Amino acid sequence: VFQLSVPLNFLGSVYRELRQSLLDMETLFNLQKVNVKIEERPNAKVLDLPRGGEIRFENVTFGYHPERPILKNASFTIPAGQKFAIVGPSGCGKSTILRLLFRFYDTQSGRILVDGQDIRDVTLESLRKSIGVVPQDTPLFNDTIEHNIRYGRMDASDDEVRQAAQKAHIHSLIETMPEGYKTPVGERGMMISGGEKQRLAISRLILKDPPLLFFDEATSALDTYTEQALLQNINDILKEKARTSVFIAHRLRTIYDSDQILVLKDGHVAETGTHRELLDKEGIYAELWQAQELSLAQDAELEQSVELE
Ligand code: ATP
Repeated sequence: VFQLSVPLNFLGSVYRELRQSLLDMETLFNLQKVNVKIEERPNAKVLDLPRGGEIRFENVTFGYHPERPILKNASFTIPAGQKFAIVGPSGCGKSTILRLLFRFYDTQSGRILVDGQDIRDVTLESLRKSIGVVPQDTPLFNDTIEHNIRYGRMDASDDEVRQAAQKAHIHSLIETMPEGYKTPVGERGMMISGGEKQRLAISRLILKDPPLLFFDEATSALDTYTEQALLQNINDILKEKARTSVFIAHRLRTIYDSDQILVLKDGHVAETGTHRELLDKEGIYAELWQAQELSLAQDAELEQSVELE
């Protein structure tokens, strides 16, 4: 009995961790990266958000392998109710910030606070329930479109599901599908594009309506027109509800209107400020912005010359 109980306990904890992640669909965004060693403290409390969701990283050092730190003594505050953006080169640790906040991993040193509470002192369930994510790549269930959206909040009415899809700019497209909202999607159903998947993920998040929202390259697969319209809708929702939101992005055009922008480089916070302040600083952000604007202008010129031919 003793011999058996060890692996069963282990499996039990893996199962609980998996089920937890499955229940919170968004956390599926990197299941293989879930660290089963994360444990809740016996006296863990339910996360309370009296300030509305202020996130604070205090001298955080973390690496997947301790000898190779990704974040090095990083400190920053994401104020409650603000639209915040994190930018920086590929691989600099932007998504890692999100994984740490979800407590898929614990920091090697420093701490992470949400409305003043160390995330190691709160229950995993209450922490993860408070955060909604539109991940880089959204997994879909082998089920109907409707179910895939409703996963955001299982007790949502049909009307609420449709309203969420409307705000995410996917309702009219769903209506044109063979069986509308009942169309099966996923591996055994209809395959849908990356941009459609992203809009389903956003519908799900709108339905879930969590206090803290993360968009990890959430609109990267959309054309500029759909992206702008969708971002406008998301902005309206965020403003109306004064939600704390964090946008992780490569294309600065999608985040330049944020209340605050953080530039991450080599594990450090290299710059913070508004778009205007960062341009005036003439640092990394300003350089990146100019490079992207130049390439957009070149694309437009190219398009024009093709049209003229
Ligand atoms: P991108 O903009 O390309 O999405 P990012 O800034 O979000 O990148 P992260 O995904 O946070 O970057 O990854 C930071 C670094 O950590 C990368 O070098 C990555 O290879 C590494 N990394 C990520 N996950 C793991 C893991 N589970 N084990 C080991 N290394 C990892």
